Amino acid sequence: MPELPEVEVLRRDLDKEIVGKKIKSVEVTGTRSVRRHKNKKEFIDLLDGHKITAVQRRGKYLIVKLDGAEALVIHLGMSGQLLRAKSAREKAPKHTHVVITFTQGGLLRFVDPRTFGEMFVTKYDELDEQVEELAHLGIDPLETAMAWELFGHLLAERHARLKNLLMDQKFMAGIGNVYSDEILFTAGLRWDRMSDSLSQQEIRRLYRAISETLQDAVKYRGSSLADEQYVDLFGNTGEYQQYHQVYDHEGKPCQRCRRPIARARFSNRSTFYCEACQV
Ligand SMILES: [Zn+2]
Repeated sequence: MPELPEVEVLRRDLDKEIVGKKIKSVEVTGTRSVRRHKNKKEFIDLLDGHKITAVQRRGKYLIVKLDGAEALVIHLGMSGQLLRAKSAREKAPKHTHVVITFTQGGLLRFVDPRTFGEMFVTKYDELDEQVEELAHLGIDPLETAMAWELFGHLLAERHARLKNLLMDQKFMAGIGNVYSDEILFTAGLRWDRMSDSLSQQEIRRLYRAISETLQDAVKYRGSSLADEQYVDLFGNTGEYQQYHQVYDHEGKPCQRCRRPIARARFSNRSTFYCEACQV
């Protein structure tokens, strides 16, 4: 599933490619992708003829601001992709559910094999009221400038396993299974350490690991994993998976101590870590 870095890469691509463009037409072939609307006509009518003024991100949600009061909200779910095409003559990939064509030429395709992703239009000023998930999003680790002391307070207020807490969208928005493992390895902390048990030094290490890991991941254009192929707006895979140190590395030598990376089952998923380097 795409996490914060992948969505941020897309946001930056979209910002360059679609801001200022006017929507000429919208085609919906997979109605599940626009399931919050009564029907596809309602979705199409809210977009038709509008100009795109900005592309923002909240957690893993993309917010495409339109002229007027509305915004198009996009969530990629497990397998959603946004792909730019120069013209309709470029063959659409399988599972293309929504196509937005611009008057200036070019189009944007929403492709989603597993259909957990979605698109919908709502009033920009009412995003929090209309979208339950947005109202409760926690701090954005890329956008929020916060002192590490405050971060320490937030950790101490909770009594949760670190991996749980990092993945809790109400605590911090945008981190999932991959980046929580990478962050905790970088910080030298175990996935099951309790958030209220950290020393000042450990809080600082975790704080630094979060921003460094996410910024590096954006720099290398996100992670593309074998099963849920993430690609950017131009169809290119990310490169950050080459820099993963623990995620999906079970049995491979730890890059710090050479001991094999361990795997534990946790809340129905796997977590990868080094038993020696993470305490
Ligand atoms: Zn190690």
